[in-house]
Amino acid sequence: MKIVVCVSHVPDTATKIKIASDLKSIEQNGVSFILNPYDEFAIEEALKTKEKVGGEVIVLSVGSDSNKETIRKALAMGVDEGVHIKCDAQIDSFNVAKALSDEIKNLGAELVFMGKQSVDYDNGIVGSLTAAMLDYSIATVCVAFELNDNSITVEREIEGGREVVHMTLPAVITTQKGLNEPRYASLKGIMAAKKKTISEKVYSPIPNQVDLVEMKNPQPKNPGRIIGTDASAVPELVKLLKEEAKVF
Ligand SMILES: Cc1cc2nc3c(=O)[nH]c(=O)nc-3n(C[C@H](O)[C@H](O)[C@H](O)COP(=O)(O)OP(=O)(O)OC[C@H]3O[C@@H](n4cnc5c(N)ncnc54)[C@H](O)[C@@H]3O)c2cc1C
Repeated sequence: MKIVVCVSHVPDTATKIKIASDLKSIEQNGVSFILNPYDEFAIEEALKTKEKVGGEVIVLSVGSDSNKETIRKALAMGVDEGVHIKCDAQIDSFNVAKALSDEIKNLGAELVFMGKQSVDYDNGIVGSLTAAMLDYSIATVCVAFELNDNSITVEREIEGGREVVHMTLPAVITTQKGLNEPRYASLKGIMAAKKKTISEKVYSPIPNQVDLVEMKNPQPKNPGRIIGTDASAVPELVKLLKEEAKVF
């Protein structure tokens, strides 16, 4: 079976982000990029599935040349081969899903793993859009996954509990923390990744469906207020928590 895993190349969550002068992008100088953390669960589940049912795992990433670093990370974890879908234009989630679904169709892959969201733009929609474009079943925010022949059982994290869903292949699964414990890339894996193939496809985008108008920094937080330093401050503190902060 051909299993696809889709990964995005995102700014390191520890990086201090600065908005660029066009107000529509971020300053890339000095920003280190990493494999989107939710996509590590997707890679791990794809590898576990291959270990169980056989086949090959192919990683796809849409973006500029620097996305290859993230593809290499996936290869070092054990993915068999990579496809870099090259696109230097500023594209929206719809275009990302279109690029991915075109390649998934081309590969004839029946099972696709993605993260539940990309931690840069946080839309959480590429999985659903891709499934819709491919006419595949979709289960999002999965914390358990099992494949038996053509049949899939997943558990989805929902408010206050879990939902159990049955579906059939072909399918897209988006992964949530807790699904598995992603493996580390071993030294052997890192060396082996250097010899694995990354093929390149060029994506010609269609017009964006969404127009990014402006990026803004969050409002600065109000400075804290010290009400008092001993027990006599408690009544005033309770009053303010009730009437001003409205926490109870
Ligand atoms: C007008 C506009 C311009 C933009 N310009 C840029 C830009 O110049 N550079 C830039 O980096 N981003 C740009 N973006 C954002 C870019 O489209 C997003 O990074 C991308 O859509 C993923 O973010 P998301 O929140 O939509 O993904 P989500 O829906 O949150 O992602 C869910 C999952 O989909 C998969 N996925 C998401 N993105 C990719 C990808 N690129 N390749 C493979 N799998 C993926 C991953 O598995 C991920 O976990 C732009 C967005 C807009 C609206």
